[in-house]
Amino acid sequence: MYKDNDEKKTTTTQNDTEERVKKWMFLPYHGPVTDTYIRKLKNSGALIKPIITTTKMIDVLPTLKAKIPKEFQSNVVYQFKCSRCTSTYVGKTWRHLFIRVREHRNKKKQVVRKHADECNTEVLMDNFKILTKTNRNNDFLETLEALFIKELKPDLNTKEDFRNKELRLKF
Ligand SMILES: [Zn+2]
Repeated sequence: MYKDNDEKKTTTTQNDTEERVKKWMFLPYHGPVTDTYIRKLKNSGALIKPIITTTKMIDVLPTLKAKIPKEFQSNVVYQFKCSRCTSTYVGKTWRHLFIRVREHRNKKKQVVRKHADECNTEVLMDNFKILTKTNRNNDFLETLEALFIKELKPDLNTKEDFRNKELRLKF
């Protein structure tokens, strides 16, 4: 009696296997190592269809997962680098980076724009680099900013930037 059941089970499993669609798996080709890997996968009965790619192609694939452009990143610690000299500034913003960059460009009395004017250059998005990003709260963002200021010692940050932010590190 239970023999019948067993037979039935086997049949069902086989049918299922045939019906299931194999998943594509992109594999960068590294020679015989890859061949062995694919053979092992097939022997294990994995439901995959290996697609061999060059390493270059695999680099392109992740971009399908739309990366947010720099200017639309938020909750970031950023660094400004003057295009004419070695001066730098480190700051943070919880808003989109482009909004903060626009402020740096427009506020003539603030350090970044002031320095750019002195160096006879502009404040552009290209001068900004994202140092880090967090999804945690604003306090954490400030702590990260303080850590970067301490580490990089950007010459355009004021002494107050250093002092205030170092205090915040103690909470
Ligand atoms: Zn400069």
